[in-house]
Amino acid sequence: MVELEKLVRTNIIALKPYSSARDDFSGEAGIFLDANENPFGDLNRYPDPHQQTLKDKLKDLKKLSIKQVFIGNGSDEVIDLLIRIFCNPSLDKVIICPPTYGMYEVAANINDIIVLSVPLTSAFQLDIEGLQNVISQSAVNTIKIFFLCSPNNPTGNSIDDIDWVLTHFNGIVVVDEAYIDFSERSSFIEKLALYPNLVVVQTFSKAWGLAAARIGVAYASEAIIALMQKIKPPYNVSSLNQEAALKAIENEYVVAHQKAHILEQRIYLETSLSQLPLIKKVYPSDANFILIEVEDADLLYAHLVLKKIVVRNRNAVIKNCLRISIGTFVENKYLIEVLKRYIP
Ligand SMILES: *Cc1c(COP(=O)(O)O)cnc(C)c1O
Repeated sequence: MVELEKLVRTNIIALKPYSSARDDFSGEAGIFLDANENPFGDLNRYPDPHQQTLKDKLKDLKKLSIKQVFIGNGSDEVIDLLIRIFCNPSLDKVIICPPTYGMYEVAANINDIIVLSVPLTSAFQLDIEGLQNVISQSAVNTIKIFFLCSPNNPTGNSIDDIDWVLTHFNGIVVVDEAYIDFSERSSFIEKLALYPNLVVVQTFSKAWGLAAARIGVAYASEAIIALMQKIKPPYNVSSLNQEAALKAIENEYVVAHQKAHILEQRIYLETSLSQLPLIKKVYPSDANFILIEVEDADLLYAHLVLKKIVVRNRNAVIKNCLRISIGTFVENKYLIEVLKRYIP
């Protein structure tokens, strides 16, 4: 059983959070002379620090309580806040399973947190034996967070044994579901009631089409969300961004339509790429990108740039692999044409 109080840094428990002007007063509009705002203009007022309207919509969509929803300035802020709540600099550790999203390690490094790497197997699944070793070696509980990404970036596959981690690891388990909308698997949000140590991270940056707006969301127990609220910058999500997210939810059918198009294009790309002799392997994807293995990724990357196509060269992470985001029909078709004509 995970005891949350024992995982949280003592200074965070003791912290007296900043109380903003809009924290001290929450009622219907009157004359606001409390926050030193300019009384004129359209963007003159501070945004709602609790993002109530947006959280209200999200809790309905996810069938949770509003106290189980946290909104961040992108998932990147969510990841950073979680590290700062639980991990004491230069003492505590996190586990990651590379190849995976780079921000977990960078956020840990920024906060001077030790990163324990237990690489995925050749099938890009969890190395249970390796994890067991690492987890059991931690005498006192200094491994605070386990970062998982499913569907995983940059491999594209879903991770199978997340329940094993949730039952065997005595810390916080972060499941990053940035690409869950493109997968047929269900979200771990459904398991929040089962696991008090689970944090599910989602984002408006991918399927929702709002990368520019920087809206990341964490779903967890009320206790964990309360800690995140306690330490976040008071006005961490601008009103423009809150409104953009609300509008996207309002127009959910547009996003659903786009998603259907992207999924159709994923099949087109998977099929077309598989037929090219140049490509040694097309990895199956539950996301809106496809990982491919080629003879020489650096060379092909440079050639594509010459043809004005930018893909993600993952050669440094997975030998000779490129990650290709799924674009529009026209973009994908052009990519396939260029690849067909490519002579190394
Ligand atoms: C793109 C991506 C995100 C999104 O990050 P934001 O800060 O919300 O834009 C989060 N996690 C993973 C694994 C991603 O690939």
